[in-house]
Amino acid sequence: MKYYDKLIFDLSKAGRQGYSLPACRWENSVSELPAGLLRSDAPDLPQVSELDVVRHYTNLSQMNFGVDSGFYPLGSCTMKYNPKINEEIAAMPAFAGLHPLQPSQTVQGVLRLYKDLSHALSEITGMAEFTLNPFAGAHGELTGLMVIRQYHMSRGDLKRTRIIVPDSAHGTNPASAAVCGLEIVQVKSKANGLVDVEDLKPLLDDTVAGIMMTNPNTLGLFEKDIREIASLVHECGGLLYYDGANMNPLMGVVRPGDMGFDVLHLNLHKTFSTPHGGGGPGAGPVGVAAHLAQHLPSPRVLEAEDGTLYVAEDDGDPCGRISGFMGNFGVLLRAYTYILMLGKQNVKMVGPLSVLGANYVKEALKDCYELPIPSVCKHEFVFDGLKDKSTGVATLDVAKRLLDYGFHAPTIYFPLLFHQAIMIEPTETESKETLDGFIEIMRHIAAEAISDPESLKTAPHTTPVRRLDETTAARQPVLRYKDIN
Ligand SMILES: *Cc1c(COP(=O)(O)O)cnc(C)c1O
Repeated sequence: MKYYDKLIFDLSKAGRQGYSLPACRWENSVSELPAGLLRSDAPDLPQVSELDVVRHYTNLSQMNFGVDSGFYPLGSCTMKYNPKINEEIAAMPAFAGLHPLQPSQTVQGVLRLYKDLSHALSEITGMAEFTLNPFAGAHGELTGLMVIRQYHMSRGDLKRTRIIVPDSAHGTNPASAAVCGLEIVQVKSKANGLVDVEDLKPLLDDTVAGIMMTNPNTLGLFEKDIREIASLVHECGGLLYYDGANMNPLMGVVRPGDMGFDVLHLNLHKTFSTPHGGGGPGAGPVGVAAHLAQHLPSPRVLEAEDGTLYVAEDDGDPCGRISGFMGNFGVLLRAYTYILMLGKQNVKMVGPLSVLGANYVKEALKDCYELPIPSVCKHEFVFDGLKDKSTGVATLDVAKRLLDYGFHAPTIYFPLLFHQAIMIEPTETESKETLDGFIEIMRHIAAEAISDPESLKTAPHTTPVRRLDETTAARQPVLRYKDIN
């Protein structure tokens, strides 16, 4: 333990201060707050100098791991580099100082940007129209499902209350469907990891609202039967929802709109290089085919005949309202900057390069780690633990050991189809040298599992904290440094 880890909150010394503000001019004025809401004693804050505060936060920040500190191959999360120009643009006073209640005439440029970003996303995905209002991927899923429900309701087709979700789906898919009041029906995957069309057929009838799919799916595999699945679902009157959180491998190669999808969401905080982690902020825009545009949520940005843009509260037959205003504008701005900085030509390189990187790592490790589905992957792939199962070393141990070598662990124990799943997604922003370094360490860990299994089972050894009780940390988090009765 280092000096500052121990004493950080205990440096307080009565009267020491880290700021100098002018004397308060309203000391004796009458407060407008009701007496019951006024606090009677000063808050019990540490009394420390500015330097103490700087060291406290700097040391805390160094205990963290981020994509700016090292390789972060977290499958299904697309931890790509967040270019710093995005931050520069988002911090420009003209953007940072906006207020959501400003009259439309004073924010024409901003509304134009909203339209332009929507248009760029339409070009990339093949969907006719977008709302940029949702705040996260799961929020986008809920919005998209609300659009689907509104579509069926507007046609008086009220018995469509079931939604089909593959067993490999991201957990947010069934969760969002449940929040939307839909009944979830699972469709199975075949041994090759793809949706089983024969299992799907008997599920299709006039109670089906639609199907939620990810393509490539969470195993990083392209659903080859997507055309057939699309026509089967459409024939029974259902709609196709595309979970586009991980659009990375498709960028510039193929468009969900062309595969027959009616609704999709994107995670700008994955595919479009805006930061994520720590609970946000994010953005989960939803795109729809032309026949569903009228059901997008309010408010919407519309264009008058003379080219003036305005915010419409209740245009068309909206599915409702899913945000206070127009989404996380700062995040939208970063994604817009990313798209313009890449330009049309380079956006097309994202998919092929992310797929190349994933296959490179997979091929270099498959003799040490169990590869249950050996086909060419897209942007990510899944190992089922170490190849040599005799050592008793589990996927969790491999993940913890990686931290000792300065890499973030991949996603583990997801998808649920394999007991020892390790899901690796390198992304296109990493150099070959970084990938080679990761491969070398992964091979080294596989060798350690045989020569010194104990060092893996007790890992990590070098991090600020060791193995945590993750369940208790999530259920009963300790959010204060002191107990307060
Ligand atoms: C990340 C992810 C989501 C959820 O996105 P959030 O922004 O975390 O709500 C949904 N589906 C897939 C496939 C994902 O990878």
